[in-house]
Amino acid sequence: RFQRRIRPCRYDIDQFTPSFMSIFESLVPSDEEISKQKQLLATLSRLINKEWPNSKLYLYGSCANSFGFSNSDIDLCLSIDEKEMSKVDIILKLAHILHAGNLRNIQALTRARVPIVKLMDPNTGLSCDICVNNLLAVVNTKLLRDYSRIDKRLRPLAFIVKHWAKSRCVNETYQGTLSSYAYVIMCIHYLQSQRILPCLQEMEPTYYVTVDNNICAYFDQVDKLNGFGAQCKDTLSRLLWGFFRYWAYAHNYTKDVISIRTGRTISKNMKDWTRRIGNDRHLICIEDPFETSHDLGRVVDNRSIWALREEFERAAEILHLDPNPSITLFEPY
Ligand code: ATP
Ligand code: MG
Repeated sequence: RFQRRIRPCRYDIDQFTPSFMSIFESLVPSDEEISKQKQLLATLSRLINKEWPNSKLYLYGSCANSFGFSNSDIDLCLSIDEKEMSKVDIILKLAHILHAGNLRNIQALTRARVPIVKLMDPNTGLSCDICVNNLLAVVNTKLLRDYSRIDKRLRPLAFIVKHWAKSRCVNETYQGTLSSYAYVIMCIHYLQSQRILPCLQEMEPTYYVTVDNNICAYFDQVDKLNGFGAQCKDTLSRLLWGFFRYWAYAHNYTKDVISIRTGRTISKNMKDWTRRIGNDRHLICIEDPFETSHDLGRVVDNRSIWALREEFERAAEILHLDPNPSITLFEPY
């Protein structure tokens, strides 16, 4: 059923780019919001450094990877070297430290898969989650941000894909669909396949860190790559159409793993991701760029894989035929 013939592109696809661009612009956080985020980071850093002078607080996730919508929660990561203390103890002490500041709704979630402290800052009105020593997330945040600086089409593409995924309820990992992080990686993969983005991890590394035994190395002098994808003139709406067509009809779900680390697809056989192991079913395989044993699609189950593929197909059809794709695409599920 997914082998439908790939038809030629509608001749007028480019005329929808301005309406998709205005949706993108309406989702981008304002400068005021960004300065509030920085203000909160500074306030919390001051408070925490008084108690733990050698610790450092990092912004990560959507606020720092350039793919964040306005009004999204802030993800923070506390990097701290406290050999005597468990993560849970650090979380509890962190919550205690934060009580001294003028902050509200402080909650220590010590039993979550990733233990965090949640809080709200009444000065800025912002809510945030603080995790501990999750430095791989800080590094993958930088990788995503660096990719977004190479070609200015990536950011609007990923915003529209995230907005579509949220409208269609396929951005909920606890229901077996994909995280925002996974969608951004799928966008980068698609643009690599179109030669609009390079593969930074295959180039001579200029940035090099080791986090929990994972070597994270890539070319991060992206200013030197300006104009990399310029020979491809595809507009936003054409790329969206290609993205959804790729996931609806072209990707080989049975055999392939997408890998922005290598800039192409690799085989499931090579990674031994061919069968269910524990809860990892590997029905759609998306390799994490640094933690390469980690399949970002492992949350997808037998039911949600079909929901997801049907949504990709619906989106591809809308971009192909619908008179108002920039409206129909986001109609609530
Ligand atoms: P949203 O706007 O939906 O909040 P987000 O960019 O914050 O989007 P999340 O999927 O919430 O995206 O992820 C936040 C950050 O956590 C990511 O930028 C990434 O660094 C890290 N992350 C999320 N999921 C994973 C995962 N499965 N493996 C590794 N890191 C992840
Ligand atoms: Mg987030």
